[in-house]
Amino acid sequence: MNLTYFNIQRFCIHDGPGIRTTVFLKGCPLNCLWCHNPESKSRKTEMIYYTSKCTGCGRCIGFCDARSIVDGHIVYDRSKCTACGKCAGRCFASAVRVCGKTEDTSDILAEVKKDVPFYKTSGGGMTVSGGEPSMQADGVLELIRAAKESGISSAMETCGFGSPDFFREAAALGTLFLYDIKGVDREKHKVNTGVYPDRIHENLDMLISAGAEIIIRMPLIPGKNDSESDLSLLSDFLAARKDLIRYAEIMPYHELGRDKNAAVGREVYDPILPGKQFSHSWKDSLTGSGVEIRISGE
Ligand code: SF4
Ligand code: SF4
Repeated sequence: MNLTYFNIQRFCIHDGPGIRTTVFLKGCPLNCLWCHNPESKSRKTEMIYYTSKCTGCGRCIGFCDARSIVDGHIVYDRSKCTACGKCAGRCFASAVRVCGKTEDTSDILAEVKKDVPFYKTSGGGMTVSGGEPSMQADGVLELIRAAKESGISSAMETCGFGSPDFFREAAALGTLFLYDIKGVDREKHKVNTGVYPDRIHENLDMLISAGAEIIIRMPLIPGKNDSESDLSLLSDFLAARKDLIRYAEIMPYHELGRDKNAAVGREVYDPILPGKQFSHSWKDSLTGSGVEIRISGE
């Protein structure tokens, strides 16, 4: 079975316990204002074009109607681009590259297996991330199953917005869930992410009932989901599940997504303040929940 991914990153230390190999899949059902992996949103292969890196050499011109030179400047018309990748092969400046590759799960697992010696010494394994793994449910389950048969444990970074059957099956394979909770207030969640949180919260509680290992991740975005009332609702939400999750981790907003949004032709959401400076006050607000609160990267 095939999976479409945009990166297989080795030696990851923030995507679960130990040293991990993370498979970043294409496609996400949410539309978070602050997404720092905008190249994951579309399920399709697409082109990334960093105008800041482009030297204007013109080596990418002549393969199609999407790229042309107008008044001495490179013009890229995304609507005419088929993502064939010919231009990327000609660009020495790494200004343009293909984002998305479709491969059989056995080929992906072969790449993951290269890091097995590191899993053994660190307690790590494979992480499937995104995008949202549930968008490619069958392939992801096949990959996790094959990893397990090879003695590799799996974790999954998920927004929780997918079919309950998918999550149930992944849990039965012993998957550790790094489960995003982006807020409790329904209307705010809809504005911030494009969907109501009901299904996300129901899937979480289903996984808890199934005895799954869960780490909650909370992307907190200044001015979007970090008001006193947001934090109070979040604290109550955690408290109600306090002995049922390993710990909860604050994910402060960072600005890496800004340039990438422009590079994949999406609107740049600007400005959002970096969250690092607020993380300790957020932690103080959530500690009363009785759940261990960590801050990503600390
Ligand atoms: S990916 Fe192909 S179609 Fe798109 S701009 Fe490059 S050469 Fe043209
Ligand atoms: S080959 Fe690369 S650097 Fe040269 S014009 Fe095209 S995108 Fe720019």
